[in-house]
Amino acid sequence: MSEPLLGMDLAELREIVGPNQPAYRSKQLYEAIYRTDTSDLVRISTIPVSIRNEIARRHTLGLPEIARLHESADGTRRYLLRLDDGRTVETVLMPEGERDTICISSQVGCPVDCKFCMTALLGLERNLTAGEIVGQVLLVSRDNGIRRDSGRLNIVMMGQGEPLLNLPNVVKATRILLDADGVGLSPRRITISTAGITPKIEELGKEPVRPKLAISLNASTEEQRSGLMPITRKYHLKDLLEACRAYPLRPWERLTFEYVLLKGVNDSDADALRVRKLLANLKCKVNLIALNPGPEIPFEKPDAERVAAFQGIVRKGTPCFVRKPRGLDIYAACGQLKRAE
Ligand code: SAH
Repeated sequence: MSEPLLGMDLAELREIVGPNQPAYRSKQLYEAIYRTDTSDLVRISTIPVSIRNEIARRHTLGLPEIARLHESADGTRRYLLRLDDGRTVETVLMPEGERDTICISSQVGCPVDCKFCMTALLGLERNLTAGEIVGQVLLVSRDNGIRRDSGRLNIVMMGQGEPLLNLPNVVKATRILLDADGVGLSPRRITISTAGITPKIEELGKEPVRPKLAISLNASTEEQRSGLMPITRKYHLKDLLEACRAYPLRPWERLTFEYVLLKGVNDSDADALRVRKLLANLKCKVNLIALNPGPEIPFEKPDAERVAAFQGIVRKGTPCFVRKPRGLDIYAACGQLKRAE
């Protein structure tokens, strides 16, 4: 079984290169994998041919393959990527003026059964490895000629899956993505989003190297939330907000709360007031997302006036923005990742 190199850290690559090689060899391999656009191990020109060939005989690089690419009228590109075991997962590129955002997945499918999200319909197939998480960034940036060290690349882990239910692999991938000798992104440019796995929020807070954190709030009361997000029955809203209050933010950092607006369900003025109250005293901002509808989703999108009124109320307490949907026409927007053809 040839083990992929992608996802390995420097220490692991040192083992691969072997004890008879000088230390800089593993560094060269690490840089070739994460800093260049190498797709073929035998072409890593910094390493002597005999050694490259030996490594390539025993290992693959492990980049995913592009199974399908859907392009939206707004420039968004939804990739269906094929993994080593033949399973597929989605990654979305959203180019926009000064910046490019890649939305990556953390699991194949998702075990969190949110009633408004189409990914929930897939169920959980499996966790992604650290290499498969990093591989999405490498592949999509390369496929679009985006320089990863250009300062214009943002990564959001808001695709398929619940990142905090795959925390070890997510943390390992984050370390590689943020390592100056690795992919070299800034910690301000990676955000992961959670449905609210409270104990894992605490764990993430203890990591010295970590992304920014977004929390999918999506409701203004415990009762409403447990109807929309059954996971709340295990991880209560009150404890979630407690964990958010205790979360060790870095000086430059604030939490993001996402709130999907469902017509007549959680979008009233009273909801907005409650959200404002829940988030008072938290260093945070709110991103509102008007529902992206789908055939199997039993909710409707509120009209623009309702969204604006909701925003106006929340904004009196906390910065509050409305997230523009991207790639709606190709099933690439929030809550739409279900491998639609
Ligand atoms: N499991 C993580 C990561 C997915 S992020 C999480 O729950 O945060 C996906 C974001 O899209 C979440 O904030 C979710 O609330 C939002 N979302 C899900 N379905 C949606 C839909 N149909 N329309 C708009 N936003 C949706």
